Amino acid sequence: MSLNVGIIGTGMIGQDHIRRLTQVLSGVAVTAVADISKERAEAVAPEGAAVFDDPKALIVSNTVDAVVICSWGPAHEEQLLACIDAGKPVFCEKPMVTSEESALRVIEAETVFGRRLVQVGFMRRFDADYRRLKAVIDTGTLGAPLMYKSVHRNASVPEGLYTSDMPLNDTLVHDADISRWLLSDEVIGVEVRLPRRSTVGKDLRDPTIVLLHCESGAIVIVEISVNIAYGYDIRGEVSCETGVAALPNRPATVVSDQFGIRQAIPEDWRERFIEAYDQEFREWIVAAGQGTATGPSAWDGYASTLVADAALRAVESGGHEAITMIEKPALYADEISLSQAMRKEIA
Ligand code: NAP
Repeated sequence: MSLNVGIIGTGMIGQDHIRRLTQVLSGVAVTAVADISKERAEAVAPEGAAVFDDPKALIVSNTVDAVVICSWGPAHEEQLLACIDAGKPVFCEKPMVTSEESALRVIEAETVFGRRLVQVGFMRRFDADYRRLKAVIDTGTLGAPLMYKSVHRNASVPEGLYTSDMPLNDTLVHDADISRWLLSDEVIGVEVRLPRRSTVGKDLRDPTIVLLHCESGAIVIVEISVNIAYGYDIRGEVSCETGVAALPNRPATVVSDQFGIRQAIPEDWRERFIEAYDQEFREWIVAAGQGTATGPSAWDGYASTLVADAALRAVESGGHEAITMIEKPALYADEISLSQAMRKEIA
């Protein structure tokens, strides 16, 4: 039986997910779409899909079993709460929400509901290279992880759409989440350093260096560059006690000509993480079909929101900003990582 999905927000990633769910994956149908602009939603709606201008009407519609939220961050909380209220599994693009208070309201609603319904769009966890990297760290053969360097480079951001806060409250959440997941650690403090400012991107504060202090004592060094011009470049390297594990360079055709020897670099996140997004939705479709959610949870959305908030405070204070989390609700206590599951299988 096919899972009937409604998509809220039919902009850039909403359209990419419509393509994915209608042309790439099976066991799923896009039966409804909604956007603030009904014309935009109508223009991209798959044949036969209902078109709504009110996201809440889509959420309660009986043509929809599960919801995908691709609107902008500040709209996510209201839409997530409406999904939980309707008891429908929901995939929400990052950032889950844009403030600690919002994140706590989502956690509270899901906890009261009593079953996981929310999956947050941290697609790096579904990338085969990141999964292999985590598996190596989790085997413990390199000893404990001590440091992680996470490089997050974007070719460009449309001028006007990006504010100086966005590298921290929109982009950093990916690095925060993948660091917590890779190191099986929690972030307890944040510092921000601002190097010489790039003149590309005018008033934008770019690049940014963020230090994440983890509970174990491990430190994550994040480079965020959002206007680096040459392409979308994601790197990661974990230094452990007796060795180093790094993401491999992505295989690409090697061109040799009069200009030298070179390989193409992905243009953007759609190209670099295309298989990860597919896998993320494959796993979501299975869980949503069973009326629940697996993968990155509302707790992970909360944790990454706290990191973003602390990073914004650290820009102002110039110092170390501590993070305090609430006690983890039992609903999220049983989450085990992929590599833990793999280890169990091997055992
Ligand atoms: P976008 O192109 O601006 O699309 C967002 C769409 O949602 C727009 O059509 C927007 O309409 C609409 N919208 C805004 N508020 C809404 C509301 N309350 N109800 C219904 N529709 C609403 O943005 P995008 O790049 O697709 O990003 C969407 C979300 O995905 C963001 O949270 C972003 O951070 C996330 N994202 C994640 C990744 C990833 O790697 N996982 C990559 C890209 C984006 P208007 O334009 O009229 O406001």
